[in-house]
Amino acid sequence: MTIAFEQALTIVKEKLAEARPKPRAEVVPLDDAAGRILAEGVVADRDYPPFHRSTRDGYAVRAADVAMPPVELRCRGEIAAGGHFDDAVREHECVSIMTGAPMPKGADAVVMVEYSESHEDTVSIQRSVRPGENVVPQGSEARAGSSVLQRGRRLGAGELGLLATVGKSRVEVYGRPVVAILPTGDEVVPVEHQPEWFQIRNSNAVALSAQVAAAGGVPRRLGIAPDRPEALRSLIREGLQADLLLLSGGVSAGKYDFVEQVLAELGAEFYFQSVALRPGKPLVFGRAQGKFFFGLPGNPVSTFVTFALFGRPAIAVLGGGDFEPPTFLRARLSRSLKPPRGLTAFVPAQVTSTAGEPAVNPVGWQGSGDLVGVAAANGFIVTHPEQGNLVAGDWVDVMTKN
Ligand code: AMP
Ligand code: MG
Repeated sequence: MTIAFEQALTIVKEKLAEARPKPRAEVVPLDDAAGRILAEGVVADRDYPPFHRSTRDGYAVRAADVAMPPVELRCRGEIAAGGHFDDAVREHECVSIMTGAPMPKGADAVVMVEYSESHEDTVSIQRSVRPGENVVPQGSEARAGSSVLQRGRRLGAGELGLLATVGKSRVEVYGRPVVAILPTGDEVVPVEHQPEWFQIRNSNAVALSAQVAAAGGVPRRLGIAPDRPEALRSLIREGLQADLLLLSGGVSAGKYDFVEQVLAELGAEFYFQSVALRPGKPLVFGRAQGKFFFGLPGNPVSTFVTFALFGRPAIAVLGGGDFEPPTFLRARLSRSLKPPRGLTAFVPAQVTSTAGEPAVNPVGWQGSGDLVGVAAANGFIVTHPEQGNLVAGDWVDVMTKN
């Protein structure tokens, strides 16, 4: 039975959630934590900002004093970032202040230096300000003790910056799931080999390894399985030692497609074996000996796309993170396109920005084996099963390539 793309995604999400994977946690230096998944909740160690912070170079004033500009204020001194002013600013007084410096007591706003004229020990202020203008109040970003990052969050550059801000020089993260990669096919030879004219280099293991690593997993390559059940069986057994097994090829209806048969003999439960996708229809998901596996179709573009759609979120969950379904953005189609009926289709395409609007143009390609076409693309147009014919200017869904 062929199921819809959304249904397949829901099944993967639910089966993984039921399994409740419990990865072990480890403490790593902050600089080694990029791409990892947080295993602890993190709270602010103090208020952020830690003081009322000026966001401009200018003059710290009492807003009430400058309500009717121009006004002349007595300048009491200067506060650079890293400095502080311990006296209070009184009526008709101001203090010169720099971006990032703490506000002096008494002052409640900052007039930008552009709207002032400095004299001997007075300053002429040419514009009024609202109370609080150009000041970020203490604790307005986060209060001391409040949560700033939850367990399960993936650590990107922004999150690392935040951890650094709150003083987490070491951070508890989950161990990366080990992902076994098992390409199948008698025609598939190692990349270093000079292929005979009827052979194909093993591009899938290389592309999948990179995708697995980018998804937060540790790729473990098992070599190339021949299209013979016995040899396949021992390699699949080995693959089921990992946290997740990714097979490529051997899941279609061909005479030598033995992957499902061998998995079934090993006691596998199959959650789906065909998805209404193009490319990627013969897509298999199940569990054997306590481990999840995907049987990805062997055509390189199918392998690439089905991993991005299903493998990536699965690795996130196995690694202690949230199920992160693929996100689609929208762009305007630059020429007409006929979506296949009854399928969710992914068409390699180039997304550009035209006059401030995202535009997307399908690249020429020869179908699911064509990595040259995919290399010319930076994304995929996504069409939906019931979508009618599309014309230039229509808004369409787009998935970015990386
Ligand atoms: P299959 O899914 O086994 O029927 O394979 C579909 C197509 O993908 C065939 O043209 C295979 O030669 C090709 N293919 C299968 N595995 C790989 C691989 N590891 N690297 C590159 N191409 C592959
Ligand atoms: Mg094959």
